[in-house]
Amino acid sequence: MSSDSVKSFSSLETPGYVGFANLPNQVHRKSVKKGFEFTLMVVGESGLGKSTLVNALFLTDLYPERVIPDATEKMAQTVKLEPSTVEIEERGVKLRLTVVDTPGYGDAIDNTDSFTEIIRYIDEQFERFLRDESGLNRKNIMDNRIHCCFYFISPFGHGLKPLDVEFMKQLHNKVNIVPVIAKADVLTKKEMTRLKQKVLDEIRENGIRIYTLPECDSDEDEEYKEQVRQLKEAVPFAVCGANTLLEVRGRKVRGRLYPWGVVEVENPDHCDFIKLRSMLITHMQDLQELTQQVHYENYRSERLAKGVPPPKRNTLIEDKNVVVSDKDRILQEKEAELKRMQEMIVAMQAKMQMQQ
Ligand code: GDP
Repeated sequence: MSSDSVKSFSSLETPGYVGFANLPNQVHRKSVKKGFEFTLMVVGESGLGKSTLVNALFLTDLYPERVIPDATEKMAQTVKLEPSTVEIEERGVKLRLTVVDTPGYGDAIDNTDSFTEIIRYIDEQFERFLRDESGLNRKNIMDNRIHCCFYFISPFGHGLKPLDVEFMKQLHNKVNIVPVIAKADVLTKKEMTRLKQKVLDEIRENGIRIYTLPECDSDEDEEYKEQVRQLKEAVPFAVCGANTLLEVRGRKVRGRLYPWGVVEVENPDHCDFIKLRSMLITHMQDLQELTQQVHYENYRSERLAKGVPPPKRNTLIEDKNVVVSDKDRILQEKEAELKRMQEMIVAMQAKMQMQQ
């Protein structure tokens, strides 16, 4: 799919229901009216089922024009970051979802570049946000920061690979990582339990911080507490994806047909697909808040500590539609000055802290 193209998509046109209409419970009414923005990054070796899963999660074809490179092309190719955006509307709630795919990840013989490209992309989104925040049209900033990263782990190995460990270590300070075991249908129940435990142990041993669901408030109802407990227990989510609808005992289900039976994607006895989707939907706001309060703040303070001033943005030239009166300009200049002073104070504080 071409970069940044936007498609309109209504759940009424397709079977199934994603569940975004539950978002008003989490977000302010104002954001519901305006629409909700969320960016998800998917990372993992090619062929692990990332595209299939994303399409099944959001009931849409995010990559209609996808071309899969052959081995020779892959050797020459570095990681390419491809954002695709869909607008999903359910019961009047709009979600502008951007999925950033990372084709080419792990394909090279030396994968150092894989990280560099991904880190650069994440930082670029932070930088753009920082610049827009100090610009004129602050109320209408488009938030393209990565709010969540699904990291796909191969079901064929015996736990994490060195590449997985290295990626998560380098990225855990920049993004909320949700580890996902791909193609769960190739594992027996016992193998799955063992692999999940091994992955969790290795995450802990390597000091990797993954996204953890927040504790429930004590006054939350029991049903919700139980749901969160089950979600926590399922980490790392073992998922299967499919984009075909099959008929099983008179019901239409999304599944994978094998000679011995059907793996139902949305059956919690078969895999954690539903849990992963519930986690994402019920915790979208938490993921956004962590992005703002932890990862973006990390980026901002690091940048200020380095003493680099935020980029100046010439709003008069860039936003052709914005007409700025003299009064506005003076106000804007005063605001910018205040901001610069605040940033200097933060930078000085950071320096003093470092010296201490
Ligand atoms: P990507 O390169 O990671 O985006 O992977 P794709 O989504 O293109 O899938 C690669 C291959 O794996 C395709 O043949 C899919 O049909 C298959 N596939 C996708 N999801 C699953 C799954 O959950 N289980 C199994 N067994 N195969 C899958």
